[in-house]
Amino acid sequence: MDIVIIGGGAAGMMCACIAARKLNKSHSRSHRIIIIEKNEKLGKKLFITGKGRCNLTNAADIEDFFRQIKRNPKFMYSSLYGFTNDDVISFFNSLGVRTKVERGNRVFPESDKSSDIIDALKRDLKKNQVEVWLNTEVRHLMVSDGKCIGVLLSDGEQVFSDKCIVATGGLSYQSTGSTGDGYRFARENGIKVTDLSPSLVPLNIKEDLTKKLMGLSLKNIGLKIKDESDKKVLYEDFGEMMFTHFGVTGPIILSASSAIKGDSIKNVSLHLDLKNALSEKQLDLRLIREFGGESLNKNKEFKNSLDQLFPSKLIPVMIELSGIDPKKRCNEITKGERASFGTLIKDFRLTVAGRRGFDEAVVTSGGVAVNEIDPSTMESKKIRNLYFVGEVLDIDAMTGGFNLQIAWSTAAAAGRAAIS
Ligand SMILES: Cc1cc2nc3c(=O)[nH]c(=O)nc-3n(C[C@H](O)[C@H](O)[C@H](O)COP(=O)(O)OP(=O)(O)OC[C@H]3O[C@@H](n4cnc5c(N)ncnc54)[C@H](O)[C@@H]3O)c2cc1C
Repeated sequence: MDIVIIGGGAAGMMCACIAARKLNKSHSRSHRIIIIEKNEKLGKKLFITGKGRCNLTNAADIEDFFRQIKRNPKFMYSSLYGFTNDDVISFFNSLGVRTKVERGNRVFPESDKSSDIIDALKRDLKKNQVEVWLNTEVRHLMVSDGKCIGVLLSDGEQVFSDKCIVATGGLSYQSTGSTGDGYRFARENGIKVTDLSPSLVPLNIKEDLTKKLMGLSLKNIGLKIKDESDKKVLYEDFGEMMFTHFGVTGPIILSASSAIKGDSIKNVSLHLDLKNALSEKQLDLRLIREFGGESLNKNKEFKNSLDQLFPSKLIPVMIELSGIDPKKRCNEITKGERASFGTLIKDFRLTVAGRRGFDEAVVTSGGVAVNEIDPSTMESKKIRNLYFVGEVLDIDAMTGGFNLQIAWSTAAAAGRAAIS
């Protein structure tokens, strides 16, 4: 029983660990499990997850995962219950990695180091005698009579195996090694791959003002994404965002991007609430306090009165968009001007011009069609002894540790099934 796993990322390593543990319990050591990884080291993408801290899963109730998985949540039922978030935490705890839970139930290693997760996996691979072939690229699958019989390497070498597991990741952050090879392997063998698009990705914005705001980070911002053709709210959230030279990014923007489907991006705008903690009425009272006859600002010019309301970078933009004469004295600002300034603050609009590319996307949306895959084993229904795990599958989720959980769970299902 030789098992070849293509890709030494999150899914490939977990798959090897689970298969090797089962193999050690039930078979003789003459069998081999091999990870073939084209990079010079394992887990290059895992290293950069969670800004180098690795948000490895989420501590929410497992039922909540199905709401956070945006594509094909039902497909995950069997594998997610077969290897849950608690199982992931226990797995790493048993390898000496202590974990902690942060805001939004996000689980991180206590050390805040993704390298601790990678090192733990590497230790387990070594302990269970998994072979790791680095700097080795798989070029094609070898398929005969409807069965996968091994892989062909880029240097022309053939590697025969009883089972072959594709854990090549998606198309995002290609510098980490995920260049979409698994999609090609599937297509070459008649397995359907759905349309691919970047998800959890920054957004390009039409208005030039984002250039003036570049580098500005805003916390506790309310965000609504609306399809302007029918005014439908596509997404609503609050949290942190940032302006860049091309548009906007940050946690709420990445999450929101997954709500914008295909072509609908043409008519979409962002509605920011810059004072999310205040109701319209409370904001108006605040503005009266800032500008009114009783205020310290009453004799100041409008342009010099806003430093208590906004960060300095935002002030010139707000003045420009307000339409209020910058030199007007605060106590001369009319009720109407104050009201429209309030509206600008509570409904600051930006027009979406498009998504950024795969190289800035956290995950790939789309992938190997799940109706071609057995959900409890991850085996292809068309080609026996061939499995697909992790991001290469047409499954993706919101931020918060859910995408890595998809990788761990699908990998564990295949790892177990491959040793049968
Ligand atoms: C910046 C960033 C931050 C992220 N943060 C988080 C987070 O905190 N929490 C979370 O849940 N998710 C996070 N994600 C998503 C998460 O990283 C992925 O969902 C996960 O890594 C997918 O695992 P995978 O094993 O399927 O693919 P990958 O981790 O991409 O691994 C695929 C591996 O296959 C190898 N490979 C590809 N083709 C071949 C070939 N032909 N031959 C040999 N080897 C090959 C690649 O080199 C690579 O090492 C983040 C993603 C990014 C880009």
